[in-house]
Amino acid sequence: MYVFKSRAHSELSDAVASSDVIIVGAGFFGSVIADVASRKFGLTSTIIESRPHIGGNAYSYAEPSTGIEVHKYGSHLFHTSNERVISWVSSFVELNDYVHRVFTTHKNQVFSMPVNLHTMSQFFGSSLNPASARELIESKRARLSGRAQNLYEKGISSIGPELFEAFFGGYTAKQWQQDPRDLPAEVISRLPVRFSFDSRYFSESFQGVPVGGYGEWFERILDNPQISTFLDLDFFDVRRLISDSGKTVVYSGPIDRYFDYSEGRLGWRTVDFEWETLESTNDYQGCSVMNFADRDVAHTRIHEFRHLHPEADYGEGTVIAREYSRQAQNSDEPYYPINTNDDRQMLARYRERAANEDRVVFGGRLGSYQYLDMHMAIASALNTLETEVVPLVKQS
Ligand code: FAD
Ligand code: UDP
Repeated sequence: MYVFKSRAHSELSDAVASSDVIIVGAGFFGSVIADVASRKFGLTSTIIESRPHIGGNAYSYAEPSTGIEVHKYGSHLFHTSNERVISWVSSFVELNDYVHRVFTTHKNQVFSMPVNLHTMSQFFGSSLNPASARELIESKRARLSGRAQNLYEKGISSIGPELFEAFFGGYTAKQWQQDPRDLPAEVISRLPVRFSFDSRYFSESFQGVPVGGYGEWFERILDNPQISTFLDLDFFDVRRLISDSGKTVVYSGPIDRYFDYSEGRLGWRTVDFEWETLESTNDYQGCSVMNFADRDVAHTRIHEFRHLHPEADYGEGTVIAREYSRQAQNSDEPYYPINTNDDRQMLARYRERAANEDRVVFGGRLGSYQYLDMHMAIASALNTLETEVVPLVKQS
């Protein structure tokens, strides 16, 4: 039965007793497992979610006064070229025609991001073509003796120190508050450098935002008689009930919390959003995401959500959110794993403990302490279900 209740503890025991799998977290990782476990393997699941809503960090909802679909945890753009993921996604939703294009403000000018021929031409005040831009960047970029060991080396060896400082130095300092030499190169590896005027943020042809939003998408996924979802319920408040049941558990919460932080707390960045509904304009900045590259602007970016839905017929008014990044404290939402050397060593110890945990499968961005895009969380869930969860259920 599809339950959608807050703190329905009495019904929890019944749901757990009749489930094959208990899932902690109603984000993509947990929800995909519940869905495919039911549709492909005929298994029944109970999902426990501590927040008052489904969808995890991808959650979106219609802002009441304007009807604009807003993303509670920051703009979420779907993009993938993984056929298995596309097939799963397409069984529930249609993506709209929105193509993500990001701009960045630097010294009172607006540039295209990621760095492309337009960005370079404007920055260097020259009408570059692909060949002359390659030549220019080749003359500017730093030569390394081996592979880039950190974000700074990756940046200056890809685009040279001037472009790096203008568009990545300040933004990264605000986003991470770490020396870019202490951050992994992979953090910026997902941003391409293009010697063309292609200004798309993502290169995949399967990209967009679900028509109807992420909240509606998750409702469709979980509207399944074989999935019971309990909101506003923290797994750690009912841990005994779950462990006594002897059921297979899929845990997509923070891995360090599961082990009571016994090996220490893994480092996370969190973000704060300053929300504003503007009634007298229907276009505040002309795009969905404007980054702010300079150190003297405190926010990293401004989201304007109506642009994510060009197909929607919104009226007057717009909703914006200024995003500020800071170190996560204990009670904050964890957003970005920092992944320092200490974090990686701690994570290795937690992973060793997780591997020895009986009948519990860890996954998702919090359970694996990994930055995962949505398509990666989905792909990982599809794989984990088949290789770990189903075999465990069959053993019982
Ligand atoms: P989550 O979505 O975090 O879900 C985990 C769930 O577990 C949460 O709902 C949490 O409340 C619940 N939970 C945790 N502990 C407990 C507990 N003890 N008891 C009960 N429930 C618990 N990806 C993209 O592909 N495109 C984007 O544009 C994009 N933008 C992003 C922007 C930001 C600011 C961030 C932080 C991420 C972005 N992502 C984006 C990544 C995307 O959010 C993740 O891929 C996705 O959230 C991963 O799903 P998940 O299920 O692993 O984790
Ligand atoms: N980044 C930057 N300037 C930008 C955009 C990104 O310096 O205008 C760097 C920054 O370090 C960021 C990383 O590139 O953390 C990855 O950017 P992405 O847009 O993928 O981050 P997300 O959207 O996940 O916050």
